Amino acid sequence: MTTISSQLQHIQQQLVQSCLAATRAPGSVRLLAVSKTFGPDAVAEAVQAGQRAFGENYVQEGVDKIVALRKLLPEVQLEWHCIGPLQTNKTRVVAEHFDWVQSVDRLKVAQRLSDQRPAHLPALQVCIQVNVDGGPTKSGVSPADLPDLAHAVAVLPHLKLRGLMCIPDPAPNFEAACAVFRQAKELLASLNAAGMALDTLSMGMSDDLEAAVASGSTLVRVGRGVFGARAPKI
Ligand SMILES: *Cc1c(COP(=O)(O)O)cnc(C)c1O
Repeated sequence: MTTISSQLQHIQQQLVQSCLAATRAPGSVRLLAVSKTFGPDAVAEAVQAGQRAFGENYVQEGVDKIVALRKLLPEVQLEWHCIGPLQTNKTRVVAEHFDWVQSVDRLKVAQRLSDQRPAHLPALQVCIQVNVDGGPTKSGVSPADLPDLAHAVAVLPHLKLRGLMCIPDPAPNFEAACAVFRQAKELLASLNAAGMALDTLSMGMSDDLEAAVASGSTLVRVGRGVFGARAPKI
């Protein structure tokens, strides 16, 4: 067994344990393997081990990998999520190549993604990134501005709004992490109470996966836990 496949297996077990500890159905949380900085061969290894959904932060790196994987493993249908901050000048290439965008945090970006989504592709699945812990330098819409943005995004023709994504700062302990994640869960619940039908709460990474699952995550985004440590960015 390769390292990546054994690490994937380990994360899947950790997900099951976290679900059981939270009295949630095992299998109610999906794993997004965050492959940023790792090459197509590492992704192919994860695919061979059964993983299908991958997350990328940097648009051009992601697109290059999407194209490379289509060549390497043309018979396998993969699901690619853009999870990094998105500039308006990158929306076209994202709309043309990705299946999901989790980092929508303003209407202008959402409108461009909808306008630029090619007609032969299904609607682009999107999450709104929300800045739950309020760090001033962080991306994500503020909780106060979320309802207006969500209602505006929900009516765009070539997007399908699926839910919320958040990246809180590391918390000092499990309870503190849960408290922040629960705010995201409550924001999702209040949008649904207002008539939306959102099913995705993307939260939890390698270090806070358990707290996220305990607090209602439906999709955890794990990079290092699957692929190992990343080389420092230069
Ligand atoms: C890098 C990244 C992850 C994965 O982080 P790990 O700590 O490697 O699990 C998840 N979400 C986002 C938005 C990221 O940028």
